[in-house]
Parts: sequence; C-alpha cells; structure tokens
Amino acid sequence: MAKRIDGKVISKQIKDELKEEVAQLKAKGIEGSLAVIQVGNDPASSVYVNNKKKACEYIGIGSISYELPEETTEAELLDIIEDLNKREDVCGILVQLPVPKHIDEDKIIQAISPKKDVDGFHPQSVGAMTIGEPGFLSCTPAGIIQLLKRSNIEIEGKHCVVIGRSNIVGKPMALLMLRENATVTIAHSKTKNLKELCKQADILIVAIGKPKFIDESYVKEGAVVIDVGIHRNEENKLCGDVKFEKVEPHTSAITPVPGGVGPMTIAMLMNNCVESMRGQK
Ligand code: NAD
Repeated sequence: MAKRIDGKVISKQIKDELKEEVAQLKAKGIEGSLAVIQVGNDPASSVYVNNKKKACEYIGIGSISYELPEETTEAELLDIIEDLNKREDVCGILVQLPVPKHIDEDKIIQAISPKKDVDGFHPQSVGAMTIGEPGFLSCTPAGIIQLLKRSNIEIEGKHCVVIGRSNIVGKPMALLMLRENATVTIAHSKTKNLKELCKQADILIVAIGKPKFIDESYVKEGAVVIDVGIHRNEENKLCGDVKFEKVEPHTSAITPVPGGVGPMTIAMLMNNCVESMRGQK
C-alpha cells in the first residue's frame, strides 16, 4: 500500500525543533525578526503572508509586517530593503512575490542582502547552492528533501525526474536531488516523450503548474511521487498537478494536496530564519 507522506506532521516536527532552538538562542541573548513585505493586496498573497507571520509566532521569533499600497514605487521598496538590510534585529527579509508589474522583481531580489535572503532567491544563494557552499536554500525544494529524508526514502542512486524548470522550484529541486546523489533528469514544456521519461523515475517530482496533469500512465509501479502543484478546482477545493486517486495505488509513497509539500515551504522558511540567527552567534 502506498504511504501517504504527511507534510503537516513533518512540518510541525521541524517547527517544534526550531521552537526549542529559538528558546536556546534567546537564552543566549540572540533574537531576530522576519520582515515580510507585501506590495498590493492580492488575496492569495495575503493568505501566504499571514501564514508566515503565524509560523514566526509559533516558533517564537518576531515578524515585522509591511503592507504597502499597489502604487508603491520601485525606489520606495528598494529604500525599505536597504534599511532592513542594516537593521541588526532583522534576521530575514521576504518580499512576497509577485510584485506589481511596474516593479522589477529581479532588482528587488538582488537588493536583499544574501545574509538575510531567507527565501533563497538571491543569485549568490543560488550560486552557493549550485557549488555546495553554505547559503540559504530555496524553501519549497529544501522542504521536499526533508519530506523524503524524514520519511526514510532513499535518494542516493535513484533516478529522479523533476517536471518543471522554474527558478523557485524545478531548477533548485534538481540541484538539491543531485546534491543527494540522485541521477536527475529535468523535464519541461519542450521535453519530448514526457510520459516515457516519467515512467523511468524512481522519484517523480511534479512542478508543472497544471491541475491534475499527471495520471497513472506517467508513473512506474512502486515509484515515489511528490506533487508540488497547488490549484483550486471547480468546487473551489485545493488540488495538485497529480490525479491523486488514480496515481496513489501505483506508488510506494506519495504526497497529497493539501497537506503534502505546501506546509513544508513555511517550515523551511522558518529554518532559514533560525539559520540566520545562528549566524549571529
Ligand atoms: P511555473 O509555471 O513557473 O513552471 C512550470 C514548469 O512546468 C515550467 O518550467 C514549464 O517548462 C513546465 N511545463 C509546463 N507545461 C509542461 C508540459 N506540458 N510538459 C512538461 N513540462 C511543462 O511554476 P512554478 O512556480 O515552478 O510552480 C509549479 C507549481 O507548484 C504551481 O502549481 C505552483 O502553484 C506550485 N508551487 C507550490 C509551492 C508550495 O509551497 N507547495 C511553491 C511554489 C510553487
């Protein structure tokens, strides 16, 4: 029978471990806050921002919230980031993406000090990850590595197919699996024979951004399937990139949506904040 990988349970484990560490750091006089900046009032972004603030509260770190109007200029946003870069009480800076179109996202990402880049999106963080140097890891892919490890799923020597090559999921995911000694194939929108390729995967990581795209015909019997996608279906219920009911019986382990990868992203964000605080020691 397929094992359901429970992201809620594993993310709570991680947050509880962090909570303990934060208490120890506080006892040594080390404190920190995450600065969360939202520009505009996209409802989905507001939900994400709120969840991040709640997680900060849970593990015992502060959160400083900036809710800026849609018409905020790029220069104004850059000024705020510059100020936060200098503040000693701020361990991490997060600008909720996407930002409005008149603001250059890359410029914003690059303005955040790599020492406070808890999203792991700064080119310096990405470069460090690529060559195996210390630095902040992109939260969703790092969370997936934790899901696999804490579920005792062996990665080394396995063939992993990652569908998707975005900068925030697909590419860092592939690099982290490589770092864990998997043999990695990256598939994307121009890939030929996607189905045949996926059928060769021991671990199939799906970050395609298309609801219920992957059915059982893409999955090798006994494979591990990780579904990164998050969508709302016709009934306004959350679903992933994988047809869960069809695929689950053919897997040895699978993540559900919701309750799989989703909760791990915030847990790893908290992990990065604590890592930043550790750096102050
Ligand atoms: P994206 O749209 O930037 O990337 C999708 C990727 O899929 C692209 O690289 C594209 O080449 C590939 N692709 C598209 N159509 C394809 C096809 N027919 N065959 C093969 N490859 C194809 O999306 P993203 O930002 O990487 O996110 C992917 C999904 O993960 C989305 O559903 C997103 O909402 C979700 N997501 C979840 C979390 C989380 O915390 N759980 C975090 C980030 C993203």
